[in-house]
Amino acid sequence: MSEESKLETLAPGVHRLERPSHTLPPFQTTNSFLIENGGVAVLVDAGFYEKESLNTLQTALERLHVSFFKAILLTHTHNDHCEGLGLLQEAFPDLSIYVHGNEYSRVETHHNLKVLEDKRSLMVGDKVIQAIHTPGHSPGHLSFYLPDDAVVLAGDLVAGKGSTWIGKPEGNISDYLESIEKLRQLKLKQLAPGHGEVIKEPYNKLNEMRSHRLSRLEQITTALQEKPLSLSQLRQAIYPDVPVAMAKMADSSLLALIEKLMSDFKVMHLGSNEDGPYALHSKAEAN
Ligand SMILES: [Zn+2]
Repeated sequence: MSEESKLETLAPGVHRLERPSHTLPPFQTTNSFLIENGGVAVLVDAGFYEKESLNTLQTALERLHVSFFKAILLTHTHNDHCEGLGLLQEAFPDLSIYVHGNEYSRVETHHNLKVLEDKRSLMVGDKVIQAIHTPGHSPGHLSFYLPDDAVVLAGDLVAGKGSTWIGKPEGNISDYLESIEKLRQLKLKQLAPGHGEVIKEPYNKLNEMRSHRLSRLEQITTALQEKPLSLSQLRQAIYPDVPVAMAKMADSSLLALIEKLMSDFKVMHLGSNEDGPYALHSKAEAN
């Protein structure tokens, strides 16, 4: 693969750089986005771990005539989005790192680490990048909106294929649904996920993400119609094909869904630990 073909240009000065990362199946790569204008550049996310990925980035910076590579913006601090920070800071010691306050303490290096709050705008040359707090996948998740290009870099709020993982203790379904709604309010032509291809029908994808979660919530209440179920019984009902190695992750996502149903007073917790059992609210009252 030539160096050039490793960059996909979404809009003038907005490029996707897809590199191998230690991420979750079905993905094996994480997207970084290089935003450049007037010789200045920032990079959104750095999930790579190979020196070769750093070389690819350096070649791209040269080819795009970037004289000031000023910052890394993190959508969130899961390892598959920030494992490359060490490599980057070694190569560019003056680089600033921006992260939402909720995840500030999770970043290993505090060298040039800065907090980026909701609605704050950053300039890259003449290009405006707006940070939008979009929790749900993680508590300090940020999306980066480029209003002039109608592009949003949505991190792990969406995925190029399938859905993203929302699980306890990191994940929160109510927050997630609100975050999807925030993105739906933006003027968008493209939705750029943390993993997989850029999405050209952004509103369809956002609607699909929302209905996927809503149907999972409904599946749980349907499964509880007959009788209260423990967490593992619910797992067998909702994720019957999940391999044993993934059972813990399936449980975490079920717990996030159950938390949402409990906060909506649809489901109640009858047990003394997280294994439940769980019951529908109306049924529990009738008994
Ligand atoms: Zn993540």
